[in-house]
Amino acid sequence: MAESKRDYYEVLGVPKTADEETLKKAYRALAKKYHPDANPGNKEAEAKFKEASEAYSVLSDPQKRQQYDQFGHAAFDPGAGGAGGGFGGFDFGGDLGDIFGDIFGDLFGTGRSSRRSNGPMRGANVRTSVRISFEEAIFGCEKEIEINFKETCASCHGTGAKAGTSPQTCPKCNGKGKIMYTQQSFFGQVQNVQTCPECGGTGKVIKERCPDCYGTGYKTVRKKFKVSIPAGIDNGQSIRMAGGGEPGVNGGERGDLLVEAVVSQHPIFKRQDTSIYSTVPISFAKAALGGPIRIKTVDGEVEYEVRPGTQTDTKVRLKGKGVPSLRNRNIRGDHYVTLVVQVPERMTQAQKEALRKFDEAMTGVSSGEAEKPKRKGLFK
Ligand SMILES: [Zn+2]
Ligand SMILES: [Zn+2]
Repeated sequence: MAESKRDYYEVLGVPKTADEETLKKAYRALAKKYHPDANPGNKEAEAKFKEASEAYSVLSDPQKRQQYDQFGHAAFDPGAGGAGGGFGGFDFGGDLGDIFGDIFGDLFGTGRSSRRSNGPMRGANVRTSVRISFEEAIFGCEKEIEINFKETCASCHGTGAKAGTSPQTCPKCNGKGKIMYTQQSFFGQVQNVQTCPECGGTGKVIKERCPDCYGTGYKTVRKKFKVSIPAGIDNGQSIRMAGGGEPGVNGGERGDLLVEAVVSQHPIFKRQDTSIYSTVPISFAKAALGGPIRIKTVDGEVEYEVRPGTQTDTKVRLKGKGVPSLRNRNIRGDHYVTLVVQVPERMTQAQKEALRKFDEAMTGVSSGEAEKPKRKGLFK
């Protein structure tokens, strides 16, 4: 297989005397041209890309380049037992990660820094929750919460290195925080990126740890936050508090604290978006005769005039007694009330007598008699 391979210098189109910069430039141009993402489905481009990557991975490494110059492809052919001994496929060393960063940046328009894990990285967001009452969700409130907060260590200023020392560039990833490696897959060789296990992606390793923070760069303290909860917040919605999250890495800014509102249920009110729903029982007589009733709302009791002849399950809208909009607290939803006519379960003798009289007046038949004969009569 070694014989069928093109010469690495030929692949990159550079002379055997080419310096590092020339190699890099040549490879960059080829990789950009033949990158699979720029040539979807193009097998030829894919092969060229792999060929160029392989050539560059060898020639950019002074030691491998020397072996290649001396032994040719046999140096890296596992079957040939050359100087490369057991080195199958190819390996990304040298500046390849850096170059990939540049190329991907060019191809996808992403900034260089976003691809480089050893640049400033924003800290992770931290989530917590706060329980509030139904009314507090509607009218807003201020709550104090206490969380475990990672404070930058004052002794090492967040570096994690003992005072007087400083973190060293990670030797495994050369400070890049990521390692490129190739994997054999169904589609051929695939380049993968892995977070450096040595430094955890920071690109730095600490020789002597700061004794105050055990090398973590921060101390965990209990910290209180005042959370201003806006009127109209709903169960499950979160308030973002900038800078309340995890500390950033390499000078990156802190993440945010996200406080989720957990709204307690109300014994009589139900809520959906900006509407409030409740059920109000009214007496049979009130439903029939009409008259004022008191209805509980989140603003307190309001008086409502029941129309005579109101049927059970009648819906009533109390305009503007619902939940304020989160965007504008002056705009409020409505409160919908369902009036449920109650049939008395227990009655005194006097009440029963009165009701019989009422029934007689309605039907013209004594309610002591069965109603059936009357109905029968109707159908005659
Ligand atoms: Zn420290
Ligand atoms: Zn590393």
